Amino acid sequence: MNIHEYQAKHLLRQFDVPVLDGKPVFSAEDAGVVAYHHFEARGISTIVVKAQIHAGGRGKGIIYDPTTNTPRLLFGKELRGVVVIRPDEYGNIAHKAYLAARQMIGGKLVTHQTGPQGKIVRRLLIEEGAAIKKEYYCSILLDRSRSQNVIMVSTEGGVDIERVAEESPEKILQVHIDPVVGCQPYLRRRLAFGLGLQGAAFASFMDFVEKLYRAYEELDCSLLEINPLILTSDDRFVALDAKVNFDDNALFRHPDYLDLVDTDEEDPLEREAAKYHLSYVKLDGNVGCMVNGAGLAMATMDIIQLAGGKPANFLDVGGGANVERIANGFRIMMSDPDVRAVLVNIFGGIVRCDRVANGIVQALQQVEVRVPVIVRLEGTNAKEALEILRASHLDFLLAETFEDAARLVTEALHRELAAESN
Ligand code: GDP
Ligand code: MN
Repeated sequence: MNIHEYQAKHLLRQFDVPVLDGKPVFSAEDAGVVAYHHFEARGISTIVVKAQIHAGGRGKGIIYDPTTNTPRLLFGKELRGVVVIRPDEYGNIAHKAYLAARQMIGGKLVTHQTGPQGKIVRRLLIEEGAAIKKEYYCSILLDRSRSQNVIMVSTEGGVDIERVAEESPEKILQVHIDPVVGCQPYLRRRLAFGLGLQGAAFASFMDFVEKLYRAYEELDCSLLEINPLILTSDDRFVALDAKVNFDDNALFRHPDYLDLVDTDEEDPLEREAAKYHLSYVKLDGNVGCMVNGAGLAMATMDIIQLAGGKPANFLDVGGGANVERIANGFRIMMSDPDVRAVLVNIFGGIVRCDRVANGIVQALQQVEVRVPVIVRLEGTNAKEALEILRASHLDFLLAETFEDAARLVTEALHRELAAESN
């Protein structure tokens, strides 16, 4: 689960991790009000307006008008996802923040992480400006191969860290944390020396990482990334940006995280599926996969790929594959225009195949399915299931083996695509 930067910073504050003073806003008017009352009236002269989307690269990203696809401008210049505002001939900061926010909200922000379709900006963070001496990188994440958390730091902050990892991996320092002993001072010192820190900056870094690690653990993060972590002109480390991923397996410990979900950032069909307690993952091919169980889902996607097709999604109807779940599953599949053929691959164990077959027949009577459907049922009462499916005279193809199923669905898909191009 992902959250916005302003939400991440709010959580970090509770662990005393130094972040800048800031407030989220949802309208240009509020941006002006916050810029005035919260900052300008209190003598703060530089502020930053930051687009809040679930993607990085905002500082370099460009905001487009979503209808005309032309860049939106601010004082004659292309508008980015992060705008630093200082008083000048165009006006005081409250007025400028209002103008910037008016152009940003409703705009489409395209960064290297959003893909070309971009993301619509609906929320902004108005933050005090910082006097930056240097930008560093700092992150904590789970290294699954070592079953340990790892802290990574670099002097190359504020830039795309994947590129640093590729071009100059020696500039990324890391220490693994033994969960039994935790984030010991000697490990933090190793990082601080590695970054070449001294004096007050050294002490501030030691303190920053200790607090950040505590936040990472207690918030049950799987990633906590600060890029850039800045050193201010008075030698304090402050988190200028914050990206948090929560470990979904620990969400039961944090019911309050539900309030942090921004439904605008989720795939609408994934949201719909969650409502029916179906797990659905959107992919980029054209074969819809309806399965029961994650293992079977993986195997089904592999075999479709082997047969020359590409999965459009996988939809796990779970253990109790009843009429309602299967019908909802088909409804979700049919709302995705990328789905051009569907493979239903269900293993009947405790849910017997004959029940599943009845479920499929009834579901197909309820939902209009406009693409070829291939069904393969295996397991308890598979023979009875086949008879039920045959007797229904509904329009689907039956497959006996896994290979058959993959071949039939790929052939059906190619027929569909060929028919379209004719
Ligand atoms: P990202 O591009 O989505 O990762 O957004 P960031 O929050 O990392 O901001 C991008 C860049 O904007 C940073 O690397 C900074 O260089 C710049 N920036 C952000 N806040 C401030 C600020 O308060 N003062 C100044 N001078 N620059 C800032
Ligand atoms: Mn950043």
